[in-house]
Amino acid sequence: MNTTWDVIIIGGGPAGSTAAMTLRQLGRKVLVLEKDRFPRFHVGESLLPYNRPIFDELGVWPQIQAAGFMVKRGAQFWMGDGSMHTRLHFARGSFTEFPESLQVERAKFDDILLRHAESLGAKVREGALVTGHRVEQDRVVVTFCGEDASEHTAEAAFLMDASGLGNFTANREQLREYYPGHKKIAIFGHYAGVQMPDGDERGDILIVRRKNSWFWMIPLEDDKVSVGLVLDLDEFKTLKQEPQLVFDEAVAGTKTVQERMMNARPLTQGHVLSDFSYTNRRLVSDRVVRVGDAAGFIDPIFSSGVMLAMHSAQKGAEVVHAAIASGRAMTFAMRRYEWLTRRHVGRFWQFIEKFYTKHFAQLFFQPNNKFRMVCAINCILAGRPDMTFGTWWRLRVFFLLVWIQKRFALAKPIEIG
Ligand SMILES: Cc1cc2nc3c(=O)[nH]c(=O)nc-3n(C[C@H](O)[C@H](O)[C@H](O)COP(=O)(O)OP(=O)(O)OC[C@H]3O[C@@H](n4cnc5c(N)ncnc54)[C@H](O)[C@@H]3O)c2cc1C
Repeated sequence: MNTTWDVIIIGGGPAGSTAAMTLRQLGRKVLVLEKDRFPRFHVGESLLPYNRPIFDELGVWPQIQAAGFMVKRGAQFWMGDGSMHTRLHFARGSFTEFPESLQVERAKFDDILLRHAESLGAKVREGALVTGHRVEQDRVVVTFCGEDASEHTAEAAFLMDASGLGNFTANREQLREYYPGHKKIAIFGHYAGVQMPDGDERGDILIVRRKNSWFWMIPLEDDKVSVGLVLDLDEFKTLKQEPQLVFDEAVAGTKTVQERMMNARPLTQGHVLSDFSYTNRRLVSDRVVRVGDAAGFIDPIFSSGVMLAMHSAQKGAEVVHAAIASGRAMTFAMRRYEWLTRRHVGRFWQFIEKFYTKHFAQLFFQPNNKFRMVCAINCILAGRPDMTFGTWWRLRVFFLLVWIQKRFALAKPIEIG
């Protein structure tokens, strides 16, 4: 085999950069093709504690630390009417090793990652839109367009798809499947003048539960807060209103958010994203490995996206490296990567699916740390990829209690509004 590159990566977001860094650490020749020019705006600003070991392994922690991002010590879940709230305090998860995380402005954060990949020797081409790929017996041929509409091709032994919600290769192979009942739309922007918690709770993300929807409030700087509304796409369509109006009316009708946003003013235009939460039927094909959102995307309620993206990219890059060494287009390790990635995503998915049900909320908002059950939940929601027996059985008991709550009131029944 004689190709210019060992691996071509589509996309320079957290997954693409992580894959590039990992492959460079393993000595591979890497080309990253990114359609935009960085820094660029991106949604998804609240990280999880288990991002930290990945930063350390990639050697990018000093740059991230120097950027001075807001420290996140906990996640607060509020009822829209303010009647109840609970706080996951990461330092109190006795099964976790990492007590805190960060809230990051993605333009800056993604740029740090991409520049680090470059400094490790990855070739990064920005303004390069990938338009096609063809898998041959011993190589992958990728076509892309420059900003001046010039057409180019590049060849590599393997292709890693980190194209995010663009889901480039899986869309071409028609692999995308939506989770039933989870077609959502998000309306969001950055605001000044929002009142957020201070003291020990400074830096907490606030998730505000409404009947069939929720808000996020993420403090990025002292006077810059990311605020977003996530609701069912079908419900949004029946409203027949402009997204910003839907957002403003939801703020006005949600006491917890309205009180905090009384003096708020927008710093950015409103952004809209729809049609998320999907899986791909295959995460690996001959000479192609999908990572990050291009492997699948789940509802962002527990801020898992960037951590899952970077974790899958690191693992995906390792199996690609081994496959190139073996000279094979598909390996057992690639299939195992797919299985492990689905399992990791599945841990969050069980919480996401239940989060929208009343009986789950009734237990979740009235936590009881008997048998250190809250600590076990804390550990999963902090993003720990490996599960000990201790967390496994506690989670099983928790979901059993959720099941029982649906039939008999173990915790005080509450209304959601
Ligand atoms: C509403 C919402 C809220 C979210 N909130 C959070 C949160 O609080 N915390 C969190 O961790 N996650 C959150 N996420 C998820 C998070 O944004 C993603 O999981 C994360 O960005 C995935 O990283 P990625 O590298 O896979 O994809 P991306 O970050 O999207 O990067 C993909 C890159 O590929 C490039 N690209 C796409 N197609 C092509 C092409 N054909 N050619 C060349 N380049 C291409 C794009 O320009 C982009 O830069 C949220 C997501 C949504 C939708």
